[in-house]
Order: sequence, then C-alpha cells, then structure tokens
Amino acid sequence: MTVQPIRLFGDPVLRTPAEPVVDFDAELRKLVADLTDTMREQNGAGLAAPQLGVGLRVFTFDVDGVQGHLVNPVLDFPDEEEQDGQEGCLSIPGLYFDTKRRLNVIAKGFSEYGDPVQIVGTGLMARCLQHETDHLDGVLFIDRLDPEARKEAMRAIRQADWYDESNPPVIKVSPHGPLTGRRSSPAGRLTAADRSADPFGLGR
Ligand SMILES: [Zn+2]
Repeated sequence: MTVQPIRLFGDPVLRTPAEPVVDFDAELRKLVADLTDTMREQNGAGLAAPQLGVGLRVFTFDVDGVQGHLVNPVLDFPDEEEQDGQEGCLSIPGLYFDTKRRLNVIAKGFSEYGDPVQIVGTGLMARCLQHETDHLDGVLFIDRLDPEARKEAMRAIRQADWYDESNPPVIKVSPHGPLTGRRSSPAGRLTAADRSADPFGLGR
C-alpha cells in the first residue's frame, strides 16, 4: 500500500516552495506512484508532492479520465480567457469556493523518466494544472479568492472539524531529505493561522 497521509491546511510544507527534480530515479518513480495511489484513494483530480510532505516539483492529475503526472512543470497561457467555477483541495477537505482561473493552459515538463511532456488543458484540466502548479509554489486556491471570499473561506476553515489551531504542526522528514529554500510567505497570503495545525495527529 503506498497511500500516504495528506498534509492539511496549517502544515508549513504546503507553504514552502518546492525544489526542482534533478534525479529522475527510482525514488522519483515511487513518489509518482504514491501520489497516484493517494489521489485515487481520495477521488482527487490532482495531488502535488508537498501535499504528501515532499518538497519536490511533481504532481499527478486525473481529470475526465485523463490521468498522468508532470515533473518540473512550467505553465504557458495561449490566450487571456478566464473561467470561474467551484474549486476544492484535498488539503482543505470539504470546502469549495468559486475560483477564477485561466481557461486554457499549456503545461510543459517531464515524465518520471525524464522525457519531455506537454499537456494542453482547457476547462477542468486547465484548472487542475494551475491548482497543482500553485501547490509547488506554496500557493493554495484560497489565495486566489477576492478578499471578501477569502475571509469567508478562512472562517469556514477555522470551523472545520479537521482544523486544530492548538496543535503545532509536525514536519515529517521526507525520504528526499530536508526541505530547503524556505521563505516567508508573501504579504496578503494566509499565514497567521496557517502554521498551527496537525489535523492528522501525526505527532500523537
Ligand atoms: Zn490542492
């Protein structure tokens, strides 16, 4: 079984920019397998490595029957078109908010074997590719909401049964070594209440 616990909002790993993958090795393929298995078990549309506590630029996706993964993704936007629609996140379970995204995206990156990959996404797939790439930069979808909606989202998060403000986060050491390149989150992001939960009780 390679299903792993998903880090929830409040875990600092979700706010830490991930590092590019350098070694396309067996360890990376195990990470992709773990992401895929965990995403499927949770019926998720996508899952990024930081959500499993691993600070590497890798995510998996499963949208409308199209499954895959992308390593070191870079997004291109072929036009200016936008979409608005419900978005959620396995790290913020049970909460969904209308989130503006670009409608069309071209994601370039690599397979787990280091082969170049390009994914052209529209609609839900484009939304997923943007959401998962955001995770690799320490950005969560609630950051994309307008201030009023973000306030409402934070209220809902604080009231969620999985949110435990009194319990400090536990950082599991990943098999890929300690995270580097940590930075303080940019102003305007949700950081104050964002550092204090261990909703999975990993430390207990
Ligand atoms: Zn997410």
